Amino acid sequence: MTTGVANEPGVRPATTGHIAPVVVKVGGGDGVDLAAVCADVASLSAAGTPVVLVHGGHAETDRLAEALGRPPVYVTSPSGHVSRYTDRAALEVFTMAYCGKVNKGLVEALQALGVNALGLSGLDGRLLVGRRKESVRSVEKDGRVRVLHGDHTGTVEEVNADLLRTLLSAGYVPVVCPPALSYEGVAINVDGDRAAAAVARALGARALLLLSNVPGLLADPADESTLLTSLSAAQEERALAFARGRMKRKVLAAFEALRGGVRQVVIGDARAATPVERALSGAGTVLS
Ligand code: ADP
Repeated sequence: MTTGVANEPGVRPATTGHIAPVVVKVGGGDGVDLAAVCADVASLSAAGTPVVLVHGGHAETDRLAEALGRPPVYVTSPSGHVSRYTDRAALEVFTMAYCGKVNKGLVEALQALGVNALGLSGLDGRLLVGRRKESVRSVEKDGRVRVLHGDHTGTVEEVNADLLRTLLSAGYVPVVCPPALSYEGVAINVDGDRAAAAVARALGARALLLLSNVPGLLADPADESTLLTSLSAAQEERALAFARGRMKRKVLAAFEALRGGVRQVVIGDARAATPVERALSGAGTVLS
């Protein structure tokens, strides 16, 4: 059975029945210390806390796309939102980078630390299912708006929480990444932060940590000393006003998780030692 996560503000799904898991999302940007994240995941897991690791891979996808001679295409919507245009050819590269290099790299690193990690994309076992948005509106250089068809992007609406609970209770650490599956059975590129928020809600996670290459949400994205250390549930608009580019989706994801009953939501830093431990102890931007 899958657990719907859309349009259910405030609904607390059932927990695993034992200890509520921690969901860690680690970004795919440059500077992120994946080894440090894996070391912390291993410590948490060894201490008996169930952990789900969700990851991104956009920088790796761009590098692979260039190397294969299929440079990435980014489109800007009329509202100023920048996203990757994921046609079938781009989806292939995306899947190679996310499910191949990054996912298996993390599984390997965790296995080397004695963690029985198991890599899954959203396609596997219908782990992440959502709605496909088949066309995107793109503002061209001359200012005209063009509609591009054949896009493989969408939003996660359902999580196969039973599958994750089964794996967690058997002692595995699931390592999860996009793409997700559309209702028509087609792979779709979905935002990793919002996918992680959906997983955290569906599992009734006790914490969601969104770790990337910045200390947290900054009032001035160019100045790391302007970290916003705490945000209340009522401050979503204010938080979104500070966020640029992909940070906007991170902020949206954080508030979605908070509204969905996740008690501790932190936007934190994954560039130095013990990133998970530090975020759990409140380093970064804490939403409550
Ligand atoms: P991920 O690693 O999860 O893919 P992103 O790279 O998408 O994360 O998002 C983090 C990026 O968001 C940072 O590298 C930073 O450049 C950008 N950013 C934009 N606005 C802000 C802000 N207000 N505070 C912090 N980072 C911001």
